[in-house]
Amino acid sequence: MENYLEASPYLDQPANRDTQLLIRGSVAIMTGKLGEQARAQGGDIRVKNGVIDAIGNLTPEAGEEVLDASGCVVYPAWVNTHHHLAQSLLKAVPEGINSTLTPWLSAVPFRFRSCFDENLLRTAARIGLIELALSGCGTVADHHYMYWPGMDFDGAQILFEEAARLGLRFVLCRGGATRSRHFEKCTSDVESLSDYLDDISRLQRDFHEDRTYAMRRVVVAPTTVMFSMDPGELREVAAHARSLGLHMHSHLSETVIYQEASQKNYDCSPIRFAEKTNWLGPDVWYAHLVKLDLPEIEMLGATNTGIAHCPQSNGRLASGIAPVRALADAGVTVSLAVDGAGSNEAADMLQEVHAAWLMGRARAGQSALPTYLGGRGEQGADSVTVEEVIHWGTAGGAKVLGLHDTATLEPGRVADIAIYELNQPRHMGMHDLAVAPIVCGGATVRSLLVAGKKVVENGKIPGMDMSELSEAARSGVSLLQKRALSDWGKTK
Ligand code: ZN
Repeated sequence: MENYLEASPYLDQPANRDTQLLIRGSVAIMTGKLGEQARAQGGDIRVKNGVIDAIGNLTPEAGEEVLDASGCVVYPAWVNTHHHLAQSLLKAVPEGINSTLTPWLSAVPFRFRSCFDENLLRTAARIGLIELALSGCGTVADHHYMYWPGMDFDGAQILFEEAARLGLRFVLCRGGATRSRHFEKCTSDVESLSDYLDDISRLQRDFHEDRTYAMRRVVVAPTTVMFSMDPGELREVAAHARSLGLHMHSHLSETVIYQEASQKNYDCSPIRFAEKTNWLGPDVWYAHLVKLDLPEIEMLGATNTGIAHCPQSNGRLASGIAPVRALADAGVTVSLAVDGAGSNEAADMLQEVHAAWLMGRARAGQSALPTYLGGRGEQGADSVTVEEVIHWGTAGGAKVLGLHDTATLEPGRVADIAIYELNQPRHMGMHDLAVAPIVCGGATVRSLLVAGKKVVENGKIPGMDMSELSEAARSGVSLLQKRALSDWGKTK
């Protein structure tokens, strides 16, 4: 692993300056926009100083580097708006494979949470970020909730460092709780509200960039608004976030347990609870939102609240399929996210976008009724299009994160660009190569640029030895298993 760190060309480098690059000869460009602008005219993109300068049929200029994209399809780099990178060392835990959410939380993330140390978190983050980069993802928002009083490492620092080493844009969603839940290993390990708010202020001061083409952002993100804090605390946290200009994020309405808890404890629906605690608005987005009634969908739309739609995780945990069509139509900003690898072992963005396309259509078909029962017969053709899921996975993500100058391919936008090869049998969607990576459910990333810098080159992370990474994963998992069986970490 150390060779990779030393060899990284990105460590501590400032924004790209005085460079010019021509992506040349692609067969198609998807822009991340909708309608007639979803596809660009011409197959070349010029990048100057990390920003898209021109798109079309372009002639190389003296001194510029040419990046060969012949036969390739070009997309905006994906924006993943909800992850738990620590779970990249929690794939395929047997006790969690056939579980639903609550027993899974107990058997997987909370069973291992206190077994992590600095090195294990670093290894997990590296694995997760590399998996995402190799799917064409350029921006990662990580919902990190591994906090307890007196902990001896700074998870935020580790995550920002690992993303910077790869050259990825990183958004830390600072999780945490002032209340514990019954399945947590140790019930005395929650933070005080003042410690939580103080750390938010520190992170905002040390990491948050409030500028054009920001590479680092901080978001206020109690682990779940329904279970992690009291209503009064949530109002205080929301006011603190807004006073610092930070966006807000949390889990909500993933399964029926949210509906049951909200009715029992607050005598209202989860979204009404969010409204009462000032947790709705264009600066808020929620992971999941699977279980919603019509008034809740209308409330989310009227407030322009966002969703991190996680169809693979929702399928894996038998949570359901979020009503994304209805949400989008109501005015909700839709973004896509892989969620943690412990509940979605295929934690890459191409798989996720493919799943969003399939499940959106499956949900529409599921509700179709035959005409003799009063239905409209076969339907669902217009439920979600390929262009729309690409838009959700790029521009939608940038919008919920407040990164408005990223994630669409047009002049003036930052050069976050994924270049896909379609050279494997499964990827050969020859009738329309532009949409092949989505409809075929995969493609090989030849290059990934973030702010014009090469994160992936010729399908590889420069300086990264995959056999070393896989050995680090093996030994990391073995250590976690040993610690989970012992008393290690029980006092943390
Ligand atoms: Zn999650």
